[in-house]
Amino acid sequence: MAGNEDGGRLAGRVALVTGAGSGIGRAIATLFGAHGARVAVNDVSAGAAADTAGALEAEGVEALVVAADVASSEAVAAMFAAVDSRFGGLDVLVNNAGISEGAPGEQDRLNAQAEAVMADLLGGQPRRVHWDIASQITDESWDRMIAVHLSGTFYCCRSAIPLMARGGRGSIVNLSSVGAILGQPGVPHYSAAKAGILGLTRSLAGELGSRGIRVNAILPGTIDTPMTKPISPAFRSMVMMAQPIARLADPSEVASTALFLASDESSFYTGQALSPNGGIAMFS
Ligand code: NAD
Repeated sequence: MAGNEDGGRLAGRVALVTGAGSGIGRAIATLFGAHGARVAVNDVSAGAAADTAGALEAEGVEALVVAADVASSEAVAAMFAAVDSRFGGLDVLVNNAGISEGAPGEQDRLNAQAEAVMADLLGGQPRRVHWDIASQITDESWDRMIAVHLSGTFYCCRSAIPLMARGGRGSIVNLSSVGAILGQPGVPHYSAAKAGILGLTRSLAGELGSRGIRVNAILPGTIDTPMTKPISPAFRSMVMMAQPIARLADPSEVASTALFLASDESSFYTGQALSPNGGIAMFS
């Protein structure tokens, strides 16, 4: 593996990855470090961020733990000040932090409904079982989902822009989801937040190109992480039936897309949405 001293596709770059204590974010931070980046590791869980940073340091990568809730604009501002103070700038931002439920118990309810809907569909009769999820979502759940995904992504972009503008270059990579395009049933708040991230990505790409800052999105399909561990067998079957490559992806299969977008190999890409999704959604 290429460490800092050996060069690599991100040699000399400083990267901040949010939600890097688990799953896709951890895979991205690990791959970026292996390709020569110095990495600021964010997570709302200080312990999870420290675990990832410790693993990076064990590989000879310079890492900084910046524990913060990205839904807090004050915490985000303090996080970027800490990154600037330690590394003297920022080249790459990956907005990856995310949640699958806005309130405890939502995933269980979704699983139960998915099982019932699937059984109903397999019966071959007109639908009698309904999802009935949207009408049950509370204000608090809706607000938290939007706050973590959409507001968090905006707060981080807003703080990153002056640092990247100062350096005259930058790459922002935002984790959206195929849910932004497909409008997955049962997660209207998640799908809306991820679609909002896509609009934000395109607007910022238009605004920041003249400063040498590129902004792109990744729309993953279903990836094997702690976030997807709780999904029910029926929900998993629904996904697999619609997906030509009928398996969950490894987080590394998303990290490779993030590395491409972060590096100069994607120097003419901005405002784009790349989707490692096993074929569940086909679009240009
Ligand atoms: P994960 O649950 O394994 O990891 C998410 C990490 O984000 C966790 O470490 C968590 O502590 C952290 N986090 C949560 N809220 C935070 C906050 N407010 N501030 C800072 N950190 C916070 O999930 P994952 O599957 O690795 O997902 C990563 C991203 O990819 C998310 O944005 C998710 O929506 C998106 N995504 C995942 C999938 C999938 O199938 N796993 C598919 C499409 C998109």
